[in-house]
Amino acid sequence: MNMLKTQNRKGVLRNCPICEKLFTDTGIGVCQKCYDKMRDYENQINDFVKEHPHCTVKDIVRQTKIPLKFATNMINKGQFIAGGKITYPCSRCGKAITSGLYCGSCMALVHEATANAKRLELERKAKEEQERIKKKYAEKKSSGMNILKILRGK
Ligand SMILES: [Zn+2]
Ligand SMILES: [Zn+2]
Repeated sequence: MNMLKTQNRKGVLRNCPICEKLFTDTGIGVCQKCYDKMRDYENQINDFVKEHPHCTVKDIVRQTKIPLKFATNMINKGQFIAGGKITYPCSRCGKAITSGLYCGSCMALVHEATANAKRLELERKAKEEQERIKKKYAEKKSSGMNILKILRGK
């Protein structure tokens, strides 16, 4: 049960994906310091997008001078879409998209793959459970037979 040691009700201890410092994640995904910075950058981005509604993510990163690590993290969370029609490449095929990580067709593929993995995991668990019940039943059966033998006086 050592794995649960770092986990408590307040959050999970992990490394910040931006500054790599250890922090307690309460669901934000980055450390407080980076989160505050991100809020700042968000405002900058929103302002920039308001002025340049058809800009690309590349433009934003170049013009606002937001560190790429922040930009990537925010793109991954779909935060770049707040202001306008911004496109950036799908993480899988490179097609221009406006939200999320993948384009429509890649999203479907990724979902399918995830669903398959989940199904396999469920199947494995069900099989394990079946084996367990079978074993239990077999044990019960043999002990039941012992009782029968005793009852019959053998
Ligand atoms: Zn951080
Ligand atoms: Zn794609």
